[in-house]
Amino acid sequence: MAVNPLELKDCVIVYGPDLVPHHCHRLQVKDGAIARLDLGDPCTVLDQGALVVMPGMVNSHTHMGDSCLPDGATGLTLEQGFFRPDGYKYRELAKQSEAEHLEQITAHLQYMARTGTVCHIDFREQGVYGSELLRQASEATGVRSLILGQFKDLPFTEAELKQNQAELGEGAIAELKAVLAVADGFSESTMNDLTDAAWSQIQAVTREAQKLRAIHCLENEGYRSQSLAVTGRGDLIRALDLYDPDLVIHATVANGEEIALLSQHRVNVVLNPRANANLGLPLPPIAALMQSDANLLLGTDNGLLNSPNLLAELDFTYKVAKSQWGDAVHPDPADILKFATSNAHRLLKETYYGYLEAGLPADLVVLDFTQPHLRCSRHITASILTRVTPDDVLMTLGRGQVLYRSPIFSC
Ligand SMILES: [Zn+2]
Repeated sequence: MAVNPLELKDCVIVYGPDLVPHHCHRLQVKDGAIARLDLGDPCTVLDQGALVVMPGMVNSHTHMGDSCLPDGATGLTLEQGFFRPDGYKYRELAKQSEAEHLEQITAHLQYMARTGTVCHIDFREQGVYGSELLRQASEATGVRSLILGQFKDLPFTEAELKQNQAELGEGAIAELKAVLAVADGFSESTMNDLTDAAWSQIQAVTREAQKLRAIHCLENEGYRSQSLAVTGRGDLIRALDLYDPDLVIHATVANGEEIALLSQHRVNVVLNPRANANLGLPLPPIAALMQSDANLLLGTDNGLLNSPNLLAELDFTYKVAKSQWGDAVHPDPADILKFATSNAHRLLKETYYGYLEAGLPADLVVLDFTQPHLRCSRHITASILTRVTPDDVLMTLGRGQVLYRSPIFSC
């Protein structure tokens, strides 16, 4: 690792947790941190271009394990493509050799770095083995992987799930603990994959181990209706009651009552509108959630469904939010950029700040706003959301380590 990989003069920095662009007379990175930051006045507009430095992003919902199968589920339903035990994803993952799979995951983590991502929260299939594989790729690339493992195989039969009485046996608890020894937390596809008793057991084990808990909820109407049919309660209310998740993923079909619940519990909700759209699902209620007290984050979901490129996700999310708001004024572009940056600090604490200030870890991205499509931007933050492409990323640093450097960039 270079001790001093970056020193810039007269750039623009997207500064602080509110992500306000400022002139920056001098920026110096040293020993993994922002050693010096001479801040100038705020600036919204560029006249002759500049290098723009923004926080390195966090992708709060990935499945990098299936990034080796781009567009593989085209023409399949959500259930045919992604559900256990026989969905396309699980059948294909079982065919990957360890060496091939590791190479693919590593290459896609590098792609995330070149699109401005320094950290991701991954919902990793394949039990202990799957979590170990991603850990290796993360260490090889320097992209920080927060790994949420799941059981290799579902621990209950369909009949047991319908009765909703069974508890996890000793074998399943041992597997859970083995997963948590490698991973940063636990996830499962849906609340309908386990019994109420099992969710309470998993909450207790993860809490004891001080690990993260996440769950996909309300991705489509079936999540809620199946949960209601078996347990008498929808999947979101069960999750909040039995499992107390740190992260709820999707909320695609959340109704007013469910949005109020997410708000009341100040839940970290990860939105993935491109994935929802790609599966023919409704778009999540982004505008309504933004007007609630839920804390919103952004993800790209399955690698086989979407490229893990947050720049594309930000563009789509911003425009969907504007359309839902129903005017051209809302939301503030900075509030959308926070989904992929500073909003995550509440969840990830010192692992990831998502904003830039002197003394903080140097998780940052250098963008080339000297290019013709960017150099006269009338609104820098809006242009980050809507016009920056992977080609405009000159450098990505994760805690000062060079995760990506464009061949055309020297500093
Ligand atoms: Zn997922």
